[in-house]
Amino acid sequence: MRSFIVAGNWKMNKTLEEGVALVRDVLARFDQPPPGPVVFAVPFPFLQAIGALVRERPGFYLAAQNCHHEEKGAYTGEVSADMLVSVGAQYVIVGHSERRQYFRESHEQLAKKVDLALSRGLTPIFCCGEPLSVRERGNHVPYVARQLRASLFHLPEADLSRLVIAYEPVWAIGTGKTATAAQAQEMHAALRSLLARRYSPEVAQAIPILYGGSCNAQNAPDLFQQPDVDGGLIGGASLKAEEFAAIIRAMRR
Ligand code: PEP
Repeated sequence: MRSFIVAGNWKMNKTLEEGVALVRDVLARFDQPPPGPVVFAVPFPFLQAIGALVRERPGFYLAAQNCHHEEKGAYTGEVSADMLVSVGAQYVIVGHSERRQYFRESHEQLAKKVDLALSRGLTPIFCCGEPLSVRERGNHVPYVARQLRASLFHLPEADLSRLVIAYEPVWAIGTGKTATAAQAQEMHAALRSLLARRYSPEVAQAIPILYGGSCNAQNAPDLFQQPDVDGGLIGGASLKAEEFAAIIRAMRR
């Protein structure tokens, strides 16, 4: 049975002090391990400090929000997959729409990031999703399928099965406009059947597909009830302990 996962993407928010207080507050709300992995995707400078807090707590994990697509070298200001591993990260977000849009990350670069992350034992949380214009034309499924084909389908089955996918419609990110549960389910089911055709039904069934885009404590239970929605990648709502804890409690299993 695939994992149910809730991951909080802090983006470029919080100071170290605020971030530590937030994680302490979330952890204090759970006596027992959560029903599935809970991942904090924090800014690079906070990785070690937040890692030290979650290391002691079963079920809670550390993620980076990005890594460079080359192993190492003269890339001033960049962070490598090895560096992430060396500070204790277990997951890394790859291909968030803000990285695709503002940093022009290409399908090819994302494929390299996925390869590198997997080769270092990191679990990539691979983001995909369509802009509003594409959805309005009704081309959302082929558009997202192309993102998967271009950056993931070179992987052998054993590697692909170590991924987490996050479907995040661009028009829903940070806008307060959530996909309906039916819209999320339609896309997740389409992606799962694409994976089944390219790989195998077993692999398709085993890969967690998270929903992201203005997910909050109110809409999470409905989204998480969908059979192909295996949790959420949460932006704004992960910055408030009470709200993030409520989303964690909405996990199905
Ligand atoms: C995100 O950035 O991954 C995200 C889903 O953001 P928000 O929840 O704020 O829409």
